[in-house]
Amino acid sequence: MHGNLRTAQIRTRGGALSGSRPCILVVEDTRTFTTVLAHRFETELAVDVVTCQTLKDMQRAISESQGRFMLGVVDLNLADSPKGEVLDYSLEVGLPTIVFTGTFDFHMRESLLQKNVLDYVIKDNSGAIDSIVNAVRRVLQNRNIRVLVADGREQEESEAVQMLLAQQFLVVHAGSAPEAMEKLGKYRDIELVLIDDALPGGGVELVKQIRRNASAEDMRIIGFSTRQNPLTCAVFLKAGASDFLYQPFIQEEFQCRVAQSVDTLSQIKKLQAIASRDFLTDTYNRRYFFERGPILVQHCLARHEPCCAVVLDIDHFKKFNDTYGHETGDLVLKTVARKLRQMIDGETHLIARLGGEEFAILLRNMDVREATEYCDLLREEIARTNILFEDEELSVRVSIGVAIISAEETFDNYLHAADQYLYMAKNSGRNRVFSDYSITQLFADRQKAG
Ligand code: GH3
Ligand code: MG
Ligand code: MG
Repeated sequence: MHGNLRTAQIRTRGGALSGSRPCILVVEDTRTFTTVLAHRFETELAVDVVTCQTLKDMQRAISESQGRFMLGVVDLNLADSPKGEVLDYSLEVGLPTIVFTGTFDFHMRESLLQKNVLDYVIKDNSGAIDSIVNAVRRVLQNRNIRVLVADGREQEESEAVQMLLAQQFLVVHAGSAPEAMEKLGKYRDIELVLIDDALPGGGVELVKQIRRNASAEDMRIIGFSTRQNPLTCAVFLKAGASDFLYQPFIQEEFQCRVAQSVDTLSQIKKLQAIASRDFLTDTYNRRYFFERGPILVQHCLARHEPCCAVVLDIDHFKKFNDTYGHETGDLVLKTVARKLRQMIDGETHLIARLGGEEFAILLRNMDVREATEYCDLLREEIARTNILFEDEELSVRVSIGVAIISAEETFDNYLHAADQYLYMAKNSGRNRVFSDYSITQLFADRQKAG
């Protein structure tokens, strides 16, 4: 059902499948497998799927696909492909292929690996579908992960480069330690570095050099060597490598170790992201503000760029809780946070929820006058935002304190100064911005008024 319907779609709509989602070709003659795989790929991996049940079907789908398939998941034995002819065809047309097979032995493994299949999954247990989904997920992810291979061999001669390319990674090659450092400077998104023990300039030296700036939380390193000396591994690990492999590589081991390194880093990043965010408002939290803030301030002071600490507090917030309930209070917090994120460029400035209904902002490249005027715009914009509670439109007011950061002090002090101005804003009637600049203006206006 799937196959015919979708193949027909290609035919009738021509380039209709050329949307932005990657497209996967599934060639499998067992209906249940096909249906489950197609469903899981589409829902879990956000890809388009075309399914076929025979080699003939597949040939037609490929000729009509205009090169759109990025990956094939292929069952070796079909009615018209008793000896795995389907795989030969797949490779002949240059389709990166994951093999799904009911029968498997040592000879088959050799032959599959020789044919450069991306991966193979044996259909012998209930976890096989999960394994296929994971293998495809991995290939999709690999296409966005940049790996540096520091190997004295030419790129074409490097087994590591070739294996990574086959796994669809974005691969950068360096032939020496200095070139590796240069490539790391050029490609800031490199997450994993594979380093040959015999690298010109020194493999272990390169590990140490990388580790001076990048911890294991920032970058994974896998050493490798053709020397069968067990100490080589120990030396690499002690220098800071995350893992080590002996050459010649065993493809499955290489694949799994690389995948584990990539997964570890991605899990660390996920945990870091969770730990730095405030769950309710999805802004950074206090902890992150106090970790990142001092670095940004240091950066500004070193370049003599003006920079301001801002504390923003919602006026009479308790009333929202008391009158409309805690959930409405939460909604008010989320709305204010969203407004702040919309108005403030998070790439340049730093916004965080300090706690309760209090937010802190580090505004960069603004002197106290600019920051005060900017915060007044924020205040007005928030005051214009209505929040619907049943039939009532609630409006929110905020008070803001702004302090210029001009000399090196403790980070706490900058916030205390902003807090002092916030306190004055609250005392002067709320819904206003206070800073050194606004106070000077106020005096000047009063003097003018007589
Ligand atoms: P002021 O204008 O002086 O700032 O008065 P206020 O009512 O805004 O300030 P106050 O500090 O008296 O009250 C803040 C309240 O915010 C008290 C606390 O229960 C509530 N609150 C703190 N965190 C949350 C939260 O995550 N959700 C909700 N709904 N309320 C919270
Ligand atoms: Mg308040
Ligand atoms: Mg408060």
